Amino acid sequence: MKMDCVFCKIAAGEIPSNKAYEDEKVLAFYDLDPQAPVHILIIPKEHIGSCADITPENSAIVAHIFEVAAKLAEEKGLSEGFRIVSNAGKDGGQTVPHLHFHLLGGRSMEWPPG
Ligand code: 5GP
Ligand code: ZN
Repeated sequence: MKMDCVFCKIAAGEIPSNKAYEDEKVLAFYDLDPQAPVHILIIPKEHIGSCADITPENSAIVAHIFEVAAKLAEEKGLSEGFRIVSNAGKDGGQTVPHLHFHLLGGRSMEWPPG
């Protein structure tokens, strides 16, 4: 756990969150500032900075997160589709430096993103 990391604190239960799914490796919780009718963040409990820090040693968690995302999308009724976004670094618009995937759905999305 990275002591000054908000999402590490959420994963450890030190900061409360509205949970959508949890297991020993990942946590999914509702975004504080939702950008779609369904807006869930899926994070590894282990601290990984961003997509830029994925390595052969830790990449299995990404596959697991996508399995959780597919299950949540089905559970939340996103049969018309959804979007998964992971912002990385300054140009990517990342504001919390702990790897997370936004699962967004319940409305039509635009492309390209701003
Ligand atoms: P980023 O901009 O890094 O891709 O996404 C960070 C997301 O985390 C934002 O959508 C923001 O609303 C959300 N967020 C930041 N702090 C908290 C928090 O303490 N609790 C929850 N539930 N969401 C948070
Ligand atoms: Zn962290």
